[in-house]
Amino acid sequence: MELARVKEEIGQLGEKPFRAVQIYEWLHKKLCGSFDEMTNISRSLREKCKESFSLCTLHAVECLESEEDGTCKFLFRLPDGNVIESVLMRYRHGNSVCISSQVGCRMGCRFCASTLSGLVRNLMPSEMLEQVYQIQKITGERVSNIVVMGMGEPFDNYDNLVTFLRMVSDGNGLNISGRNVTVSTCGITPRIRQFAEEGFTANLALSLHAPKDADREGLMPVARMYPLAQVMEALDDYYKITKRRLTFEYSLIAGVNDSAGQAGELARLVKGKNCLVNLIPVNEVRERDFKRSDPRNIQNFKNILEKNGINVTIRREMGSDINAACGQLRKSYMDGR
Ligand code: SAH
Repeated sequence: MELARVKEEIGQLGEKPFRAVQIYEWLHKKLCGSFDEMTNISRSLREKCKESFSLCTLHAVECLESEEDGTCKFLFRLPDGNVIESVLMRYRHGNSVCISSQVGCRMGCRFCASTLSGLVRNLMPSEMLEQVYQIQKITGERVSNIVVMGMGEPFDNYDNLVTFLRMVSDGNGLNISGRNVTVSTCGITPRIRQFAEEGFTANLALSLHAPKDADREGLMPVARMYPLAQVMEALDDYYKITKRRLTFEYSLIAGVNDSAGQAGELARLVKGKNCLVNLIPVNEVRERDFKRSDPRNIQNFKNILEKNGINVTIRREMGSDINAACGQLRKSYMDGR
């Protein structure tokens, strides 16, 4: 519940609005997990709260820390028994948490492990928040950046995503501004447009993976519904409104999307935009036969983009020793049961 809603609910219990602020801060600033910890709230109000509301808590089933770079991958059990993944990445500029937005996914991208068993359900805003809160509690470290790039398609769970983002940026909670949040989408055009109008200047990343519709459709079924011309136009509008630099994610798959010709096409597609192309050597998933491009090819692809004046990075691989790619840890957990 957002603060305004907590105020309404608390008002209905016959209490003053400042009590709602206190409760909200206990939950979202002090990250307490039970009403009993709220020591400046009267015992009778705490009892009433316990009767009327339930607090969402995630249980960490597994925490894996990479020996290579300190990246931590968490497997959380939700109150209904489903499991989801979140990742903590430690950078010099601060800690970033990659959260899941759905249990499973229905977008069907061919290279992705999160979509192999389809969509189970959407995550509630509380379940998205709890991923960040639990990670702060477990590590004792502050999180300053959030990326919605874990399992699921955030724009397929739009309303809950927006509520989550409003709560994350609330001064009575984590107070993380849109500038420190990135939402990654496979390209659901109407939602990109709607998101631009929310007044929330988050960074947007588009999972591109191929510069032409025909190739993209082979990798991402969603491309059949939203052709690139439409997606690009929506992104241009998003930029006009928010002025936030766009990111294009491009996972390199040997022999599929890594040719010099495709690098040239990609350069033409994004030229003139304030953007960054993030090249990701594809993480090989057991159920799929895609292979990652070899390092020379990746470098060559990068050089072609750079020669065309495009900002490009090769994603620093973090946590590859701990199954840190989309959906891999959950998949191995489910298979082992
Ligand atoms: N549904 C959203 C966010 C989740 S995926 C989206 O599509 O953007 C986060 C990123 O990882 C996406 O760019 C996705 O295409 C990419 N990805 C998924 N599986 C991958 C794999 N096996 N190797 C490399 N990148 C992968």
